[in-house]
Amino acid sequence: MDYSSLLIQIANQLYFLNQKGIKYLNIKALPGLEVKSVINGLEEIISKENVISSEPRENITTKKLQKYKENIEELPEIDLITEKSVKVDKNSIHNLKQKNINHNFDQTTNLEDSQIKSVSLSKILEKYRSCQNCALGVTRKKLVFGSGLSNPPVIFIGEGPGADEDVQGEPFVGRAGKLLTKMISAIGIERDDVYITNIVKCRPPGNRNPTPAEISCCLPIIKQQIEILNPKLIVTLGNIPTKTFIPDAPGITKARGKMKQYEKWKIIPTFHPSYLLRNRTAMPLAWDDFKMIMEFTFKITQS
Ligand code: SF4
Repeated sequence: MDYSSLLIQIANQLYFLNQKGIKYLNIKALPGLEVKSVINGLEEIISKENVISSEPRENITTKKLQKYKENIEELPEIDLITEKSVKVDKNSIHNLKQKNINHNFDQTTNLEDSQIKSVSLSKILEKYRSCQNCALGVTRKKLVFGSGLSNPPVIFIGEGPGADEDVQGEPFVGRAGKLLTKMISAIGIERDDVYITNIVKCRPPGNRNPTPAEISCCLPIIKQQIEILNPKLIVTLGNIPTKTFIPDAPGITKARGKMKQYEKWKIIPTFHPSYLLRNRTAMPLAWDDFKMIMEFTFKITQS
């Protein structure tokens, strides 16, 4: 691992600890695994620093910055930290990708088709707005139908709305939603350029998993959405949406990152962002999946 990757890893580790309410690094208060991870990282940084320090002093900063810039250009990391020193570089890379991808979206998006789809989606929403087909209809505040482009290359599907979504009637607007938005943005696509929804449209109380009966009651809605949106790629977030479309799929840790087929649509399963918030060590795997999504999306928008 190189110097800049180590810095990012440690910064992410510290952010994670900070999110857990740890404001000062009291090593004794940390669980053993986290202590080991932090200490390993610091030791590696120190050993790298020693190597760098043996070089002529005037080259150190330039070399570090150069190396950092190269890494950022190769691999824009998914992070939750704000990296002041590289903000300009990262933004310019993302803007460049954004420009390319939007340019291609503009070319491939048929306005008329998009409007027809939008009307069709509105009709389904109206049909189900007061749905009481399963018990979730009784406890929900707002039905969370889905949002985004009506002619999207990619749709992201989670399992069901959480508390924030239930109040706002929008999918993925809480902490997990913010992470998902950052991850989508990290691969050069804006959230508005995709469509985001869930398998069940009403919040399961206490954020429990939706039951098979609730999923089956709600399934006609997501199936109609997919049919209308007709995306090039479906990204399933976590076990429940993955197994809904691919019943014989293994658990998400094995199923993730492997392209599958559901009827005429390609599917890439990956972790649910809520899982990533609880398990930061899974981030590099999620990033591999998002790189795959990015490559596929670039390929289809350029074909
Ligand atoms: S979860 Fe789906 S089936 Fe159940 S009440 Fe809500 S919209 Fe209807």
